[in-house]
Amino acid sequence: MKKQKFSLPLVNCHTHGAMVAFRGLAEDLALQEWLENHIWPKEREHVKPSFVYKNTKKAIQEMQRNGIKVFSDMYFFEDEVARAARELKIHALIGEGLLDFPTPGAKNFDVGLKITESLIKKYKNDDWVKVAVAPHSIYTVSKKNLIKAKNLANKYGAIYHIHLAETKKEIEDCKKTHGLTPTQYLDKLGMLDKKTILAHCVFLNDEDIKIIKKRGAKIIHCPLSNAKLGSGIAPISKIMKEGASVALGTDGAASSNRMDIWEAGKIAALLQKAKHNDPTLLPVKEVIKMMTINGLEALGFTNFEGKTLKELEEEIEKEENNFDYLYSHNIEQLDFK
Ligand SMILES: [Zn+2]
Repeated sequence: MKKQKFSLPLVNCHTHGAMVAFRGLAEDLALQEWLENHIWPKEREHVKPSFVYKNTKKAIQEMQRNGIKVFSDMYFFEDEVARAARELKIHALIGEGLLDFPTPGAKNFDVGLKITESLIKKYKNDDWVKVAVAPHSIYTVSKKNLIKAKNLANKYGAIYHIHLAETKKEIEDCKKTHGLTPTQYLDKLGMLDKKTILAHCVFLNDEDIKIIKKRGAKIIHCPLSNAKLGSGIAPISKIMKEGASVALGTDGAASSNRMDIWEAGKIAALLQKAKHNDPTLLPVKEVIKMMTINGLEALGFTNFEGKTLKELEEEIEKEENNFDYLYSHNIEQLDFK
């Protein structure tokens, strides 16, 4: 059967590629227990440069089969992610995961920052690789270190990539400690601007949404991971009504199992429609924008393979591609070249 063309660049704005190695490990657990008692111990045991290189390659091949042309990764030994991306010719925004405690890649936060800065310099003019500064979250990185990371990002005009407002526990703990929601806390520290990408944002109140919109920060919605870990459903239709930017991510394969942005777009739309009993929410074109141009913009692209974002948007408006695939989802019938 002749394949149908789908020429728009699909973008996966938040993943931890090498975690394809942990796919299926510790299913059906809540985030904190899953992370602290299962994922982190496994990572301490297994994650080294060769592991990251080998498994990121697998993740990239899976993404390319699904039409993904650009991805944003947060993990350890990100130089190996860059090597894999360049070899397989996929655009990557890499971010060495920065935490206050020792990681497989860095013995402390400052070492992680140094690694990040050397990556920024190394890939300054690279065709395939860009470098983000990637503090893990507000619950694993202190105020002082969040600020240090932002200063580094500002120095080089780099994207600041962080997990935010993912679980109820994160909100409650943040309110207890700082008297603010995680979004308000980050804003008070001056972390939110056009170059900030916020993975998850499951729990945003009206004021949080207004702040994010005002600062121009980008929300990266990861509906599968949030659903599977029982975190909740992000208020995406409200966010879109407010006019804040939303792009999509698969998150790592340990929490969402597939590296497939079609699936993320489909679930994103279905969850909003079902939650609000309203089939008009997240229409197909908007979801396709989330999967493509919103992702490019979030990751700092102004054009892609000779087309401006505006031109790509016009293509979406004209519906020259096969948007019915969002729901029928038979990727084997699409030609992504
Ligand atoms: Zn994540």
